Amino acid sequence: MRRASHLVRGLCGLLAGVLLSTAGFAAANVSQVPPPGIYRFKVGQLDVTALSDGTHPFPVDTVMQGTSPTQIGEALDREFLGRPPAGSINAFLIHTGKKLILVDAGAGALYGDCCGQVERHIRAAGYLPEQVDLVLLTHLHKDHVGGIISKGRAVFPNAIVRASKADIDYWNSEAAKERAPAFLSTFFDAAAMSLAPYKASGHLQAITGAGPLEDGVEVVTSPGHTPGHLSYAFSSQGQTLLVVGDLVHVGALQLPHPQITVSYDSDAVAARESRISLLSSAAENRTLIAAAHLSFPGVGHIRKVGTAFEWVPLNYEAGPAR
Ligand SMILES: [Zn+2]
Repeated sequence: MRRASHLVRGLCGLLAGVLLSTAGFAAANVSQVPPPGIYRFKVGQLDVTALSDGTHPFPVDTVMQGTSPTQIGEALDREFLGRPPAGSINAFLIHTGKKLILVDAGAGALYGDCCGQVERHIRAAGYLPEQVDLVLLTHLHKDHVGGIISKGRAVFPNAIVRASKADIDYWNSEAAKERAPAFLSTFFDAAAMSLAPYKASGHLQAITGAGPLEDGVEVVTSPGHTPGHLSYAFSSQGQTLLVVGDLVHVGALQLPHPQITVSYDSDAVAARESRISLLSSAAENRTLIAAAHLSFPGVGHIRKVGTAFEWVPLNYEAGPAR
């Protein structure tokens, strides 16, 4: 026995020596696959998991409106960000105890290799896509709706998918597609393609306005970025999480300068009003915010200083070890 273990140890040592002398210790042991992008926290009794869909170089120089190259440079510099900065795409999975609800689903295959990690990260968090009861979409842009399908099939076959009636009507309208800027053309195609399997199975339901949606879930209208952009408030035991979708794209720019808009906004004036009004009330009420494009996990509080907003990321809590 002792002899055998000596032999094993000897072989292991030999193997380690070979690995160290050829590939090197770090190269032999460190995976090139990024670790799962998941972040868990509680809101009252709700189990919330932020899911990273990935990051992509955010094209600040071409899409930001109502600003200048100098202002962009200064804002990025202040936050120690490169140009272009990495833009997060985040989704949020909320287990209410009764239902498993996903808010937004990332880009799926539509943004290429950078992204499309929501499904993998749902599994990494210990859930299955089949367990999702409800998918709530803040809006129908491809980096939010693309992840509900894979190769034309529903990723969440048992879920009801809900979005605003205004967005469903707009992104399925040929007339709206013709009137919209050319760069949005693929967004129309992506929305229709992603919703198709859910429409076919009778699993697509429109939301017609603000108010209670489910036990402890409320719809908050936040139009402008798209005609029917929605936010969703989840409440439990006196605590609230407000999932705000694309109320903010680049925090480094649009929090200190909330008047800055993006070329993807359907109605820039309304988008700005929604941003200022929702962020002001979140600051006043100390509401926890979850945002699709603030740096992952995109969860934190808002502080208002004059006309500017500041981001206070959620304090890290490890939770029980087992
Ligand atoms: Zn968007």
